Amino acid sequence: MIISTAFGDLIAGRLHAEHEALAARWFERLLDLLPVEARHVFPSHTLLDHVPALIRDIGDSMRQAEGAIAANTSILDKARELGALRHQQRASLHQVLREYQILGGVLVQFVVEEVERLTDPPPASACVLVVSRIHHAVDVLSQTTVEAFVSLYTQTISDQTERLQQFTRMATHEWRQPLGAVQFGLGVLRQLGVSDRATRSLDVVERSVAHLVELTRKLEAIARLNGTHDSVVSQTLPLGNVAREAARQLRDLAELRGVDIRIPEVTPEISVDVGRLELTLLNLFSNSIKYADLSKPERFVELTGSTDATACRIVVRDNGIGIPERAIGTIFERFTRGHVGGDAPSAVGGVGLGLSIVDDCVRAMRGRVEVESVEGEGTTFVLILPVFVDSGRREAESTSKPQNENREDS
Ligand code: ADP
Repeated sequence: MIISTAFGDLIAGRLHAEHEALAARWFERLLDLLPVEARHVFPSHTLLDHVPALIRDIGDSMRQAEGAIAANTSILDKARELGALRHQQRASLHQVLREYQILGGVLVQFVVEEVERLTDPPPASACVLVVSRIHHAVDVLSQTTVEAFVSLYTQTISDQTERLQQFTRMATHEWRQPLGAVQFGLGVLRQLGVSDRATRSLDVVERSVAHLVELTRKLEAIARLNGTHDSVVSQTLPLGNVAREAARQLRDLAELRGVDIRIPEVTPEISVDVGRLELTLLNLFSNSIKYADLSKPERFVELTGSTDATACRIVVRDNGIGIPERAIGTIFERFTRGHVGGDAPSAVGGVGLGLSIVDDCVRAMRGRVEVESVEGEGTTFVLILPVFVDSGRREAESTSKPQNENREDS
């Protein structure tokens, strides 16, 4: 719709003529209403020119069809530049929106003043039309500014996240070596023989170091997973191959706790991100071993798998101590434990990260994980993964071995 009223034309012309003065008025109002410093808002002349230009174009667009402002690429570019500037100045989104709100207020006030100056006031319908066109133009410009602002903001957050992940990867990697040296030194001290009192202190230090080692390994696994979030590498192979590799890494611990890891000879062939599935099974098996019920003569964790046209279902069931009902809803959260330190028979060390790693892995594989548990009877985790068939690569990959890049994480 084109505003063809005499009043519309008048306001369009006046906005054009007064754009510098209106920009100055907006600027004053900004300084009154917001905690901003002038030199921080518009540090350069080019940018100081932007607001008058926006106002001039708002005026010009009123002589054109309704969508004109949204199609005016040069004015939209200026609005984007303002978004980039406000982002660079670390303004808040709220502040940017308020600035446009104030601009809208200044322009509407201007229209009111123009009406009051006229000896022959325009009909109310013409005033409403003009004001609604001003609001529309300001909305389009503010949306464009905000889009630029938010997109840069998102980019900054993702850069910072990436840097943080890099730092975590590097730091956790670096911690492992001194921790290993401390563990070794503690072993040597124990062999050399120390007094009873010193042995008790040694026990405490050893437990603390073991805790730090577990924490470091899990944080490292999380950092590595996050770093490869978009790269799900699929291979086709029998489920049992991946499960046996995870079980192999836990053989000593399983023997120590007397837990039998049962994996059928024949398992379905699946197309899967082997690294992530292995890390998932490693964490599930290691939990079944940690939370085994030592009062039961036969202790086991058993894996079964099946596939149909749409999904692959992997079940990991144990006859351990089970998970307290009150804890079931939170066990997948980071640093959350279901069994607390002193609770016999569940006084098992842990850092509360294993299942969050499982959840991350399964989500990255676009699947889900479910759990059922009865205290005193045991726990069953079910992984439901989408079936992924990559016919081009299937044959070549069916003979390949599982990747073992995560084998040290448990
Ligand atoms: P952590 O084992 O280090 O505490 P996890 O994230 O691996 O951390 O597990 C969270 C909680 O879930 C554990 O503290 C434990 O209470 C419970 N849990 C996980 N797996 C089992 C299991 N197989 N049997 C009993 N409890 C389990």
